Parts: sequence; C-alpha cells; structure tokens
Amino acid sequence: MVGTRRAAAVYQKCPCNAARDEGARVTEKLRAIDELGARLKTYEGRPAAVAGRGKDPVNLPMIRHWCEAMGDTGPAYEGPDAIAPPTMLQAWTMGGLSGHEGRSAAYDELLTLLDDAGCTSVVATDCEQEYVRALRPGDEVTFDTLIESVSERKTTKLGTGYFVTTRTDIRVGQELAGTHRFRILKYAPAPRKQPPRPKRPRPVVNRDNAGFWEGVEQRRLLVQRCTDCATLRFPWLPGCNSCGSPDWDTVEARGEGTVYSYVVMHHPPFPAFTASDQAADAAGPYAVALIELAEGIRIISNVIGLPYDKVRIGLPVRLEFQSYDELVLPVFRALEEAV
Ligand code: ZN
Repeated sequence: MVGTRRAAAVYQKCPCNAARDEGARVTEKLRAIDELGARLKTYEGRPAAVAGRGKDPVNLPMIRHWCEAMGDTGPAYEGPDAIAPPTMLQAWTMGGLSGHEGRSAAYDELLTLLDDAGCTSVVATDCEQEYVRALRPGDEVTFDTLIESVSERKTTKLGTGYFVTTRTDIRVGQELAGTHRFRILKYAPAPRKQPPRPKRPRPVVNRDNAGFWEGVEQRRLLVQRCTDCATLRFPWLPGCNSCGSPDWDTVEARGEGTVYSYVVMHHPPFPAFTASDQAADAAGPYAVALIELAEGIRIISNVIGLPYDKVRIGLPVRLEFQSYDELVLPVFRALEEAV
C-alpha cells in the first residue's frame, strides 16, 4: 500500500498528460510488485522438504574427509569416541547429485514464481546453524525444511529481488540435533555497467615521423618537401624517392581533397574505429579511405560526416582534426554539397 500512495503523489504533482501516463505506469508496476510480494508471503511457513532422511548414517570416512578438506585437526573428531564436527550439520542432509525424495512442491513453486517475475538469478547469501546435540558415527538423521521467511523486495548491488530463508531441523530419532538456516537472494540482475570504450591504437612515433605528429598536435597537416627537387612526399620518410636527397622542409596541406579509393571494414568489429555517424558503443562497419590531397599526395584516413556506405570514389572532402581522448588525428569530412 505504501507503493500505491507514492505513485498517487507522483500523479497529483504532474498535471501534464505524459506525467499522468507515467504515474499510471508507476502505479501499475508498484501494484504488480505488491501483488507478487503478497503471493510470496503466502509461502512462509510452508514445507520445503518433509521427512527427509540422511543418505548415510553419520560416519567416520565423511568426518575424516571433511576434517582434511577444512584442515581441522581437532582431537574430538577422531578415535573411538569421535563426534562429527558440528559444522557438518548440513552435510548429513545433502542429497548429492541424485537429490532427495520428500521435497515439497511449495519451494519449487516459490522459485518458479520468482523466475517468472524476472528474478532468475540466485546467490546464497548466508547460513546460520544452531547445535543442540553432538552427532556421532552411527546416528541416522532425519530432517524437515520449512520456508521460514520471504523478505520484502530488496535492491542490492547484484540486483533487485527477494531473500528466501529456509530452516531445516535435523533430528536423530525424536531428538533435535541442530537447526540450519539457509538464505538465498533470488534476483533480477542489475544491468551491467558498460565496459570502457576501447581506445584507438596510438601511432608509433619515431624520429623519421615525429615532425608529422607534432604538426598534427598543432592541427596542421605537414607534408615533407625535398629541398633539392621540390618533390612532395607522404608518409614521412628520411629521404627523397625522386632524387635521394636527405634534405627536406615542410609545406602545410590546405586540407582539400577527394576520395581516391576506399574500403569498408565489416569484420572484425572494433568499437574504437566505429564510424562517427554511429552510436558511440556500436561496433559497426566503417570506411577507410585513401584521400588524394589538392597538393597531389595521398593519405589514409577516415571519412566522417556520412554513413560508411555512402562513401564513394571522387567524393570531395575537407581536412579536420578530431580528438579521440587525448589523441588528435587528421580525418576528412564529406563536403555538404556532396552528401
Ligand atoms: Zn628530391
């Protein structure tokens, strides 16, 4: 009922239709939650297992294995008067892979209700045991399990759901040996946080191309020019391909160009290279183009400003510098009149 009142307050505060619709949706959702909560509560006190029997009597081999696994060297757990470690209480009731007979339908129904409400995940949260009487080799245990409580709807870091606590009373004959409470959270997993978007690979900067990357940082596209024969060259190289001269200076590209050729990368998907017209986390296809600059040299880059499948040979483009995190890269935007 608390939920219904809260929803009514939302309804009254917002005079516009959209808010009224939203209010109605919230009311509906809270009513559904209340109905589920009420149904779950009806399972409290119902049996989860009736007249279960331990598959084996309390026995020394299981005690020995337990003590070895736990590293428990307590002297009470060996010799002719050995008792079982009290924390083994649940072990004597376990059904193993083949399970137990005597399990009631109520517990399965409860879990199915939760599954159907979207609480499909389960995690064991805690266990409490009370020891009343020591168990000794030869004791034959019987047990009954109750659905002790189902919590209100809770939101945890894992998600939103309900804590279900069962209580198992373990007996030898009519004598209570101990009680084992086991609590699980049945929940709808919270949406996972998006992993950070992968970054573009960094360029390899060396002494032959450092000048190019320094230019890019200043948002200038520098092209090498041979000072002997004036041939422009790109990418950056130590010497002139035409005359072999090691001497050069630079000219700054004006930034006009056309798509000389291109490929569209479909696979493997790589979000760092997703085309700019797609959602930031979409790892879709993207166009890689060979751009011919007005100066006559060619550069490989991305074409931005239009879908990857609209890139075509001859498309006029203009240089732009785009930041990817702290990395600045030259890219080419399709000219508006061409789009
Ligand atoms: Zn030259």
